[in-house]
Amino acid sequence: THAPLFAEPRGDIQLSFEFFPPKTDAMAETLWRSIETLAPLKPRFVSVTYGAGGSTRERTHTTVERIARETGLTPAAHLTCVGATRDEIDAIARSYWDAGVRHIVALRGDPPEQGQRYAPHPDGYANAAALVAGLKAVAPFEISVAAYPEIHPDSECAQSDLDNLLRKIDAGADRAITQFFFSADCFFRFRDKLAEIRPGVEVVPGILPVTNVATTRRFAGQCGAAIPDWMDRLFEGLDELPQARQLVAATVAGELCGQLYAGGVRHFHFYTLNRAELAYAICHLLGVRA
Ligand code: FAD
Repeated sequence: THAPLFAEPRGDIQLSFEFFPPKTDAMAETLWRSIETLAPLKPRFVSVTYGAGGSTRERTHTTVERIARETGLTPAAHLTCVGATRDEIDAIARSYWDAGVRHIVALRGDPPEQGQRYAPHPDGYANAAALVAGLKAVAPFEISVAAYPEIHPDSECAQSDLDNLLRKIDAGADRAITQFFFSADCFFRFRDKLAEIRPGVEVVPGILPVTNVATTRRFAGQCGAAIPDWMDRLFEGLDELPQARQLVAATVAGELCGQLYAGGVRHFHFYTLNRAELAYAICHLLGVRA
């Protein structure tokens, strides 16, 4: 599939933006400016991550509630079940519902120490599928779950990973958002395989604009996403040129999004890392206008 990088303005694209809860006042300032910049693109929802092992529980909650209160945007709260009891999780979910938050991104989470095998809390939800069922029992949330075009590292094979995704859908999830990836064909293979087994499941590609290959590789090592060799070569010599790296990042992600659009994708989820410019530029290249 090939599509021109510069698209005519289009009105048929849906967006969502993912943020992380800020740690400091300065980071909060950056986040709110980013949200203000991206809001005119009218995202379907904006999501806020939950720190490893639930470490940002309060901050995630505060950020989600502030989005609900102060912006016209629809917030989605990420929630993981690692290291928590079912009662704790249910209480968090109930307080989201009471605050008017209707969308949860339901995840298992990762073990606290890298390289360890995941073990559920003895009184906790066993995995994301169990979490989805638990959340649905608390309230009729809209629920998104994670999917892995390149297979989750804990999965034995592509089929068992797909089976796991179907368990999450059967438990009540409304859509899957994918881990980031850099090959449109890889996404299409995953999407089409799923559609063959179970037509009608909404799969939204997660787009990570890469400005730093080394950082991305460190992160990707834990989550089953491959960094292609060409990406290393592409960023060679740009270590000291952050603005050039931004431009390259926008071009690469814009090209990927164009290919995905040509293959039928109409909703794009951006891992913003709390920065608006890249996501905004890529959406613009795609033909989205405020
Ligand atoms: P699950 O769907 O439970 O599956 C994990 C793996 O275990 C799969 O490979 C599955 O096949 C296997 N498995 C599960 N149950 C069974 C079973 N019964 N039998 C056999 N195999 C099984 N992490 C955070 O900490 N905070 C976040 O905010 C966050 N946001 C994310 C957002 C997105 C869009 C994505 C893609 C990931 C996010 N993550 C986040 C990372 C996520 O927590 C990890 O990838 C985690 O390792 C798996 O979570 P999951 O929900 O996919 O788990």
